[in-house]
Amino acid sequence: MKIAVLPGDGIGPEIVAQAAKVLEALRSDGLKIEMEYAHIGGAGYDAAGDSLPDATLKLSQQSDAVLLGAVGGYQYDTLPRPMRPEQGLLRIRKGLGLFANLRPAMVYPELVNASSLKPELVSGLDIMILRELTGDIYFGQPRGIRTLDNGEQQGFDTMLYSESEIRRVAHVGFQIALKRGKKLCSVDKANVLDTSMFWREIVTEVAKEYPAVELSHMYVDNAAMQLVRAPKQFDVILTGNIFGDILSDEASMLTGSIGMLPSASLDANNKGLYEPCHGSAPDIAGKDIANPLATILSVAMMMRYTFAREDIAQRIETAVRKTLQQGLRTADIAEAGMQKIGCAAMGGAVVAAL
Ligand code: NAD
Repeated sequence: MKIAVLPGDGIGPEIVAQAAKVLEALRSDGLKIEMEYAHIGGAGYDAAGDSLPDATLKLSQQSDAVLLGAVGGYQYDTLPRPMRPEQGLLRIRKGLGLFANLRPAMVYPELVNASSLKPELVSGLDIMILRELTGDIYFGQPRGIRTLDNGEQQGFDTMLYSESEIRRVAHVGFQIALKRGKKLCSVDKANVLDTSMFWREIVTEVAKEYPAVELSHMYVDNAAMQLVRAPKQFDVILTGNIFGDILSDEASMLTGSIGMLPSASLDANNKGLYEPCHGSAPDIAGKDIANPLATILSVAMMMRYTFAREDIAQRIETAVRKTLQQGLRTADIAEAGMQKIGCAAMGGAVVAAL
């Protein structure tokens, strides 16, 4: 298991160090794990003048999986856009062909009160949002700001999806649904957008190859509403880049804390980049108070999706559950009156439970 480790900026190095402790514990148990570190984001800019140095992309391409912390920091906010840390992230996703972004939204029984919704609505919640990551209006050309004949300025973007892009992500969606509750809801805006009408047509066609999966379709506005009205109706949600961007953030909040949410971005061969859903949290960086669990749970996803080791994935997830059951909490998930522990102590507790 050759893993490129890219800590990045802000709390990135602190949380990745805890995930690395978990990998080291697994290695001392006999797993053949190799880890090699490289810079990305602001750290890449500081070290090599580039948010994605060539050496980092090369290492990532040569590895089976990438573990990433987070990128971004106030000190980089005034750099021109191509130099910004966030560009490193977009470029590595594109450079590795990572088109399928998986974001689970799970509510742990111990944290049910951290959700902004009533406990009965979210208790037992376990949704997987699959967002297409390399197409749609975020990458479509042409785009820009132009001046019309009448002198008025106009901003424009282009929403595009080709058949092969829809097909490949739909296959990933159906295959994930097969391993879970066998329900897939494809979210679009087919009542208004031609791109969405086409999306729906292709997803319906791909569904014929997966008769065991129940396919439904939902308009994105309704999906946004249903996610806060009755989120447990969903198993796998499949959607395009822009709708998925918004819905996955909405779903993440059902679980209460962004510090608990892992993610995976996969290519066609299940090579993946694994990272927490949150950013670099510069407001708490260097204070040893960040929650490392999203990053540790990202390692569990790595074991499940890239290395096909469901047993190890579950072992890590069980260790996280155990630490929560022991009442151990970082500040972001602690209820009033609970004792709080730091980032490194939480990582240590997970390793002990492992
Ligand atoms: P953020 O996710 O970094 O932080 C939002 C809030 O959540 C902050 O109050 C932060 O302290 C808290 N938080 C985040 N992760 C936490 C953790 N593990 N434990 C405890 N609390 C945590 O989002 P932001 O403040 O909007 O962005 C900060 C920087 O991160 C920006 O430069 C942004 O561009 C970047 N960013 C990077 C990524 C990424 O690397 N994938 C994603 C989002 C934002």
